[in-house]
Formats: sequence, structure tokens, C-alpha cells
Amino acid sequence: MENCLFCKILSGEIPSQKVYENDYVYAFRDINPQAPVHVLVIPKKHLASLDDTDNASDRDLAECLRAVRLIASRENLANGYRVVSNCGPDACQSVHHLHFHIIGGRKMEEKMA
Ligand code: AMP
Ligand code: ZN
Repeated sequence: MENCLFCKILSGEIPSQKVYENDYVYAFRDINPQAPVHVLVIPKKHLASLDDTDNASDRDLAECLRAVRLIASRENLANGYRVVSNCGPDACQSVHHLHFHIIGGRKMEEKMA
């Protein structure tokens, strides 16, 4: 997808700090971390958000969540972590390629929003 920041990260046009990759997903460190661990997991297929998953295979979606668990384990988040996917303007989604934030390494706020 032209002009998509995360597609450019996938193609290597924009550099990223890779954390994990398989045939379906790519994960990298957020450039502006909100916690000691802040990783973004994205499907390799361009999907704009969770509202755009009609075009996704179950595998595309399931692999994102499996990657979350694997990365949380590798990043030593045994004490817990938060997973967020901002979808649309009310959620302040700023990059329109589906992504899951994995945030951890410290105690989160009880209030989520
Ligand atoms: P969202 O606001 O949910 O759409 O999240 C987009 C996330 O992408 C933000 O947390 C940004 O800090 C992050 N981000 C933007 N550009 C880059 C980049 N070049 N490399 C890594 N993370 C990025
Ligand atoms: Zn994209």
C-alpha cells in the first residue's frame, strides 16, 4: 500500500528495530515508547484497522495474537502487559495499518482511557 508508514517499514524503506517476524506478521519497537517495553505487532497484509478485517484471513489475524504472546514471553513480561489496538478517530489511531501495541515493564494505570 503506497504511502503507508508501516508498509514502508515492512519493505525496509523505513528502518525499524525488529523484534519478531514470520510469514504473516512483523513486530518492532515503537519509536516513542510509552513504557519500558513498547512493541508494535502488524500483519504483513495491509489492513487499515480492526474495522478492515473482512479482507483478512483468520490466519492473518490469529498470527498477530500468537505473536503478542510470544513477544511478551521473550520480553520477560511475566508480571503482565497491556495490548491495545486503536481503531478510528475516537481512539486517536494515527497510523492506518492495523497494529497491536504491547505495552509493559511497569505497572499500568487502572484507568484505561
Ligand atoms: P496509533 O496512534 O495507535 O496509530 O499508533 C501508532 C504508533 O506508531 C505510535 O505509538 C507511534 O509512536 C508509532 N510510530 C510512528 N512512526 C514509527 C516508526 N517509524 N517506527 C516505530 N514506531 C512508529
Ligand atoms: Zn500498510
